Amino acid sequence: MDMLNDPALEVFRDEVRAFLDAALPDDLRRAAARATSVFIDPAVSLPWQRILNARGWAAPDWPAEFGGPGWDEMQRYLFAAECARAGAPNLAPMGLKMVAPVIMHYGSAEQRAHYLPRILSGADYWCQGFSEPGAGSDLASLQLRATPDGSDYVLNGSKIWTTHAHFANRMFALVRTSNDGKPQAGISFLLLDMATPGISVEPIRTLAGDHELNQVFFDDVRVPQANRLGAENAGWSVAKHLLTFERGGKYAPALIGRLERLRGQAGIDPVLRARLDREAIGLTALQALELKAMRGLGGSAALYASVLKVLGTETAQRIDVLACEIAGYSAWADADGQAPADVAVAVPRYLNDRAASIYAGSNEIQRDLIARHMLG
Ligand SMILES: Cc1cc2nc3c(=O)[nH]c(=O)nc-3n(C[C@H](O)[C@H](O)[C@H](O)COP(=O)(O)OP(=O)(O)OC[C@H]3O[C@@H](n4cnc5c(N)ncnc54)[C@H](O)[C@@H]3O)c2cc1C
Repeated sequence: MDMLNDPALEVFRDEVRAFLDAALPDDLRRAAARATSVFIDPAVSLPWQRILNARGWAAPDWPAEFGGPGWDEMQRYLFAAECARAGAPNLAPMGLKMVAPVIMHYGSAEQRAHYLPRILSGADYWCQGFSEPGAGSDLASLQLRATPDGSDYVLNGSKIWTTHAHFANRMFALVRTSNDGKPQAGISFLLLDMATPGISVEPIRTLAGDHELNQVFFDDVRVPQANRLGAENAGWSVAKHLLTFERGGKYAPALIGRLERLRGQAGIDPVLRARLDREAIGLTALQALELKAMRGLGGSAALYASVLKVLGTETAQRIDVLACEIAGYSAWADADGQAPADVAVAVPRYLNDRAASIYAGSNEIQRDLIARHMLG
């Protein structure tokens, strides 16, 4: 890709590669290769985050004033591509990529000073409390009630599909603070301590057999009003700001790496190779679009976020199907039972990735948003 092969980036690329060669431990690389989800357990992601943080590289997208490395957008993209190429574990996005930007934008000086260093170091591990049993796509209908009482709110209700709530010590949550006016106008954004009395976490097992999802129950949970981000009843704007970061992304680097590895395992079946080639062409286009989005060219951040979410997740799901077919081909040839990771975990990864077109706002909803942006 020309933009990434700019000679001006060569010194930077060499520096990143040398670091990854020296600093990424083999056990973390192996665990990442066998992961069945993009949400990698903190036992694997946090040690890598700490290594990156010691180098000042845990949060490539953060401004330098908050502890980011001060890279431009091409350096950030190249760094993501090199990490994917090296097989580094994904870092959990809930803290670094989702709540951190909104704390920077809406947080008080005290909130920034308290939370941001703890997110960088991994001292705090966050989960996202948006969805409820009766509020998913129609998020504004959420009902988890926060009733003011002295200097606290008292929370009652539940959140569902909460990724990694069983690992998290913090949650950012949307709560209902008013029923007056439009549903969006009565929502506030809170930062919670998961150890607060009255919070309980129940596991939900997925089709793939993983435990990454939970339902979280709130029974008279007291949260200081000082833990609110932004004004009371203004949480919807905070959430919309955050969702742009959740959806916008760099899907292509990891998928390009995965496709390359699969190509090495596809044998000489010409039909399979042709399908891999077709995905490779699509990924080149996706990467070009991601680079355009990063440079803010030709569209709003919200529009790009929706477009990239649909293209990235649907490409991943097609590659999952190819991986399963290749796993089928190679199963009988794998007499020593030492199948490469992409083949060994093809089926659980396929099952886990079915959810990618649902979470972070389903792809049907993204298509609605794209239509609204493009067609009015
Ligand atoms: C693996 C996974 C991880 C998740 N992690 C989290 C998390 O950490 N925190 C969190 O808060 N939530 C999380 N979610 C929840 C996720 O955001 C919701 O599942 C999603 O928003 C869809 O909501 P729903 O499940 O209630 O489905 P519904 O909203 O009931 O939708 C059902 C179907 O109807 C379609 N649909 C609904 N409305 C429309 C419409 N207007 N136009 C066209 N089609 C429509 C949807 O696309 C979907 O196919 C996660 C979900 C999954 C599967």
